[in-house]
Amino acid sequence: MKCPNCEKDLVSVEKDGLNLDLCPTCKGIWFDAWEWEDLAEAISIDKENFNELVASKNNPLFDEEFKKCPLCNRKMEKIQAYGLNIDRCIADGGIWFDGQEIFKVLDVIAEKSNIDKEQLKEYINQICFEK
Ligand SMILES: [Zn+2]
Ligand SMILES: [Zn+2]
Repeated sequence: MKCPNCEKDLVSVEKDGLNLDLCPTCKGIWFDAWEWEDLAEAISIDKENFNELVASKNNPLFDEEFKKCPLCNRKMEKIQAYGLNIDRCIADGGIWFDGQEIFKVLDVIAEKSNIDKEQLKEYINQICFEK
């Protein structure tokens, strides 16, 4: 799979049954649709708090300029969730986080779930950036 930002090959990273795809250059991260909910499970957080990126009710925006899905190569839509515009594939439901976006999203989720922000960030850091 190629990075939607810089077209470098994504690198596969794994932990606790989660298998994410990371761009080593721009630090973007790809979650397949089910992987986003798997993350909730892996860190024992209520899936409800992950719904904003799964449910399609968030008035998606679509534009020809938007990024291409690394999985199916179709243009992705943007969903407004967690105070950001996140890229999501219309076809397969996968989610793309640019550089630091994942951490902003996790901040919001940690707050909602009443858990330690740093602990949650640390978990993603371990999967993605400590190899
Ligand atoms: Zn990239
Ligand atoms: Zn796709």
